[in-house]
Amino acid sequence: PTFESMGLREDLLRGIFNYGFEKPSAIQQRAILPIIKGKDTIAQAQSGTGKTATFSIGALQCIDVNVRSPQALILSPTRELAQQIQKVALALSEFMSVQVHACVGGKDLADDVKKLDSGVHLVSGTPGRVLDMITRKSLPTKNIKMLILDEADEMLSMGFQQQINDVYRYLPRATQIVLVSATLTQDVVTMTDKFMTNPTRILL
Ligand code: AMP
Repeated sequence: PTFESMGLREDLLRGIFNYGFEKPSAIQQRAILPIIKGKDTIAQAQSGTGKTATFSIGALQCIDVNVRSPQALILSPTRELAQQIQKVALALSEFMSVQVHACVGGKDLADDVKKLDSGVHLVSGTPGRVLDMITRKSLPTKNIKMLILDEADEMLSMGFQQQINDVYRYLPRATQIVLVSATLTQDVVTMTDKFMTNPTRILL
């Protein structure tokens, strides 16, 4: 499929083309449709495949800008990656009135609280800081529709399992889960079994 044929919102489509993408990459061709249809999705994919835009497009498509609280949450293993994802999501949403916040450790807690209080739609963060913001009641979870776990194998090997479990427990029951991982280790499979319902599997 082409980007035009995916049924994406016009303002998002415009952002995609403006960012310089012409044709969807292999993972985008296979994963965007199941994600925007609301299916739990496992994508086995490495960096360099276009995975970031895949789930960013999926998240942006599901956001209602009139609801000023987080509706999609992206967890990734490092601050740098979380900020990189924020940049991609910001660029793709250039023509949408979407607020994208990076919620990462090493930053002033008060700044995080202030930004979250102002009403953001999409949060890209690391598990520890995101959990902290949730338990402080600065990051409301009731409107979250989609949880994206990027580089799940890395997050688990770095010891984030408990924090991810804790974040998951705060989310609405019906939250759609999208998991991206270069390798499907036993720990990753255990997590998909626990969190996901009848997932679509995409192997690149
Ligand atoms: P990622 O796998 O998310 O790290 O992306 C790898 C690189 O591919 C990034 O520089 C993206 O900007 C680029 N990219 C992703 N999707 C596309 C696309 N459909 N067309 C051209 N470049 C892309």
